[in-house]
Amino acid sequence: MGQSDFLEDLRTCELCEHRCRANRLEGQTGVCRITTPTIASATLHPAPPESYTVFMSGCNFKCLNCQNWTISQYPDNGCKQKGYEDPHKLAEECVNGLDTLSGRVMGADRIFFSGGVTKPKIHKKPPRRTA
Ligand code: SF4
Repeated sequence: MGQSDFLEDLRTCELCEHRCRANRLEGQTGVCRITTPTIASATLHPAPPESYTVFMSGCNFKCLNCQNWTISQYPDNGCKQKGYEDPHKLAEECVNGLDTLSGRVMGADRIFFSGGVTKPKIHKKPPRRTA
């Protein structure tokens, strides 16, 4: 699978129930206002369930009481974000993060993606490799 294959669904985006059909790869925006997938931050997260959490920028909701408005209302708020990251590189970063001393002490055992999409996806960490 080529790197760009990961992004093909963004040419006529129907990733959420808004089904905007925006060509996000050409800079068109839908309700979420995000073109290329943007990461706000990626880090070990101690709140249960302990995980390496990737916070995605933007949101397809516009809740007035959002506690994460610096992330969810990007790009309209102009807040600094981490940016786009190659999925292979991001996967390595997540797995390596779980394998750190902090990750083990915390008991982090999963990669969690946090964002506005209404379909949560939790990936359990594969069994630890033995040498
Ligand atoms: S809100 Fe964003 S993710 Fe949802 S369909 Fe529109 S462009 Fe795609």
